[in-house]
Amino acid sequence: MDFSLLAEVFERIEATRKRLEYTKELAKLFAAAKPSEVRRLAYLCNGILLPQHEGIDLGVGDKLAEQSISLVSGKSVKEVETVFRRKGDLGEAAQELLHKKTQLTLSAHALSLEKVYDNLMRVATASGVGSQETKVKLLAELLSNASPNEARVIVRLVQGSLRMGVGESTVLDTLSVAKAGDKSLREELERAFNLTSDIGLVAESFFEKGIDGVRKVKPIPFNPIRPALAGRLPGAKEIFEKLGECAAEGKYDGLRLAIHKSGERVEIFSRKQEKMTHMFPDVVTAVRKQVRAREAIFEGEAVAFDECTKRFLPFQETIQRKRKHGVGAKAKELPLHVFAFELLYCDGKDLTRLPYSERRAELAAVIKQGETIELAKNIIAKSALALKSFFDECVSAGLEGIIAKDLSAPYTAGTRKFAWIKLKKSYQTELADSLDLTIVGYYIGKGKRTQFGFGGLLAAAYGPRENSFRTVCKIGTGFSEERMKEFKQMLSEIEVAKKPDNVDSVLVPSKWVKPRYVVSVTADEITQSPTHTCCRKGNQGLALRFPRFKELRTDKNPEDATTEDEVMELYEMQGQKNG
Ligand code: ATP
Repeated sequence: MDFSLLAEVFERIEATRKRLEYTKELAKLFAAAKPSEVRRLAYLCNGILLPQHEGIDLGVGDKLAEQSISLVSGKSVKEVETVFRRKGDLGEAAQELLHKKTQLTLSAHALSLEKVYDNLMRVATASGVGSQETKVKLLAELLSNASPNEARVIVRLVQGSLRMGVGESTVLDTLSVAKAGDKSLREELERAFNLTSDIGLVAESFFEKGIDGVRKVKPIPFNPIRPALAGRLPGAKEIFEKLGECAAEGKYDGLRLAIHKSGERVEIFSRKQEKMTHMFPDVVTAVRKQVRAREAIFEGEAVAFDECTKRFLPFQETIQRKRKHGVGAKAKELPLHVFAFELLYCDGKDLTRLPYSERRAELAAVIKQGETIELAKNIIAKSALALKSFFDECVSAGLEGIIAKDLSAPYTAGTRKFAWIKLKKSYQTELADSLDLTIVGYYIGKGKRTQFGFGGLLAAAYGPRENSFRTVCKIGTGFSEERMKEFKQMLSEIEVAKKPDNVDSVLVPSKWVKPRYVVSVTADEITQSPTHTCCRKGNQGLALRFPRFKELRTDKNPEDATTEDEVMELYEMQGQKNG
């Protein structure tokens, strides 16, 4: 397949931003692709070379890309920089500079999708002495054969800034449309993706073996599984009305770990599929001792525990274990307890389709008694009263609350459903829950804060249907001086000249930033507001009243922020509480 076909579709995507239209365009590409091209096509559509957990980073710094553009265009690096500054985008700068060049020479060969992918892979994996020069040359080789539009796409790909609406969700729609003509196969494709986190694998299985092949996809050790998420209800009564007899487990407030084991190899992934194995040597050792299976994938919440007081330590203490340096010393100072709550795969068997009751029984059989890993405490609640007293017991033991679990539901990978329902002690105070919001901009401080160059954040909830971030508050309180300095530093690195396409906002902050960081925010209540775009109907949106910064959620991706639907749910829960 010619790379130009993909580059043209990308160009149209940027122009229309209408998901329905570009899904059809992308679907035509998949329908035309050879089976051997489908995997690469899926990755490139997604702006990646391999799934995130493989640890391959396409990100090439501006400097390196500028050198390649300079080599091919015959302009000096300084001239390239000048055009870059004027355009605000290096891809567009490459397009302009190479446009002038291609008017002079017509020697380029057509670039195939395979060639682009393979060269980029070599760029991403080149290492050691002389690797910088190799990268510059490999990239220049592609650019010298690229049309101006292809050059723009290639430069954006290497910068990791192919920021169009082709998230995994769109690729999944596209695959379904390519074969079935509509989105009817989407759910099954999504399930396979949620179990493997590998869009290329799903696309390839689908094109080679059809939907039956996709149905047979099961968890694979060391491919992270997208986590199941919990719905919320305001009280034990409401939960019991919804689920009837159900299980309830303690809600431990720590770090969610997904633990994979095959033989002696153990890997630990975070909630957002990052590899964290090296941070938890104590847990790795415990897994080897305490897991009675050759291969297993299970989840648990890791909490730092104070052996003297026999109390759980707060999240802020546990999170200190998420570090790159001084790992051994911290492990001694803050030993972790892992409360296992889900078994998803064991010795070739996919447990995700089994009901909770069976998964839990197998989990109990697989975890041997030991010091580090134990089962999350649970009960079977036969009444709302039993749920409530378990909740009270958990809260007095220092837990955050409970998670009720539907006894007959499968594991709902990657989705927030009512198979799990959380009930937290914070629901009884102020706003029912804190919100995790994505930062889309920041304000330069006034008065005393000018010295930090930081005065507050513009924060947004996530709308998964349109892949859009919609603002819900400006946050000006809760920051220490240290935090302000840290935010200024972090955010200035991801500043962009204009509002990102996937941000929907009426307010204009001092600086826009790429949606990347998530912050946890508390507030007094949710109110209607004309200045925010979250859940907007007519000219009224929803906004947080008196929002306060709580913490940075380094364990969440921007798309893991509280969704608009959840903000609406919280708004409605608040209405119920106030009668
Ligand atoms: P929160 O900020 O409330 O933890 P979240 O968005 O991280 O929410 P939710 O789906 O809302 O995730 O709540 C489930 C989270 O609770 C899980 O991600 C997990 O980290 C934690 N947890 C603690 N104990 C359990 C348990 N027994 N079963 C499942 N999840 C648990």
